[in-house]
Amino acid sequence: MEDLSKCVHCGLCVNACPTYAITGLEVESPRGRIHLARSIEEGRIPLTPAVQTHWELCLQCRACEAVCPSGVPYGRIMEHARAQLDAGAPAGRSGRRLRKLLLRQVVARPRVLSGVLAPVRLYANSPVRGLVRRTGLLRLLGRMGMAEMQLPKCIGTPVRPGKGLAKPESAATTAILFTGCVMGELFGEVHRATARVLARSGVTAEATAGQGCCGALHAHDGDIDFARTLARKNIDALGGGDEPIVVNSAGCGAAMKEYGELLSGDATYRDTAKAFAARVQDVTEFLAQLAPLPGGVFPHRVAYQDACHLAHAQRIRTQPRALLGALQGCELVETAGADMCCGAAGIYSIVQPAMSEALRARKAEQFARHRPDVIATANPGCQMQYNAATREAGIPARVMHVVEVIDEAQRAAGL
Ligand code: SF4
Ligand code: SF4
Repeated sequence: MEDLSKCVHCGLCVNACPTYAITGLEVESPRGRIHLARSIEEGRIPLTPAVQTHWELCLQCRACEAVCPSGVPYGRIMEHARAQLDAGAPAGRSGRRLRKLLLRQVVARPRVLSGVLAPVRLYANSPVRGLVRRTGLLRLLGRMGMAEMQLPKCIGTPVRPGKGLAKPESAATTAILFTGCVMGELFGEVHRATARVLARSGVTAEATAGQGCCGALHAHDGDIDFARTLARKNIDALGGGDEPIVVNSAGCGAAMKEYGELLSGDATYRDTAKAFAARVQDVTEFLAQLAPLPGGVFPHRVAYQDACHLAHAQRIRTQPRALLGALQGCELVETAGADMCCGAAGIYSIVQPAMSEALRARKAEQFARHRPDVIATANPGCQMQYNAATREAGIPARVMHVVEVIDEAQRAAGL
């Protein structure tokens, strides 16, 4: 209630909101959603299916939070609103239960997740994929077809906790690399690129054993207790030292920087959670402190797209641009709405396909106008959404993580 009462209804957040930009409706704006939450809290309206729809259409991108002059913690408000839905959603209870089950029993369990994604990896790397694409079948397969278009072009070997990564010839420092859940399974290349880039700056990346899913997807879905369980597990695994914890998934980094808040009511973990959170750094934030990085040649036009949980939740905007801009020959292209959500938002593109598609189309329009060679971002979900955006619109740009760009540039410079 205290969080809700901070909102003074000034409306300064409204134009930053992607769902308001698409619908033009007050109830699909942050101010409107907060108003609904407050009305329910004060018992003036019941939690109806309509309210549920407005809350569920929120991307939890936190663009509103970043521009709010009153410091309304919108992300926290929406997580609690979603938790209310868990307790008594007026509509779609079975869908919510299934989602919760999948998030708990698949995403948060490394062995199960790896088993589920193994055939996906096999398919993505096989010649069958090319054939399927040529048939035009994907456009008829709805959400499944879209999920296929989001997959990376080729999926490398997973990087899992406890596995070895590139090491520098002489190490000055060590950092823990957070491997994540889907990130480690589908974006092993990004982890390997991160380790190589760090190694060239004399930093050893350790994928320490025992770590697991950060809990962001669970918290965003309102399953806050389970997110706390996952946070405790990561603190137990990684909380013993004082090395920086480097994260290359903006969504995970944002969640882990908030472990202190998440576990503020837990007397056993409160202090260690705060200390843990203070060690978490996005990879671009960490690299910017090491800059200038050794070498780097990248004679291409690069459109950097802010990941919401990097720009709005972690307030990191300049570091990735500075790292890319420092590469020899790299031309940074600023597109309109670079910091507006692409519509990936965790599992949003699966559960809210229409809004996700509308936001993806806005990005594709910008890419078609500016014709970058590369679209760079710092979050796996965004990478997947841009894979789909470029494939759908026939845009030939490559989609890369910022560290992949730096790695390729350093290799081109002979490093
Ligand atoms: S959330 Fe912040 S910016 Fe938006 S209406 Fe409330 S006080 Fe204003
Ligand atoms: S989190 Fe994003 S989608 Fe949700 S209300 Fe705020 S700006 Fe709009």
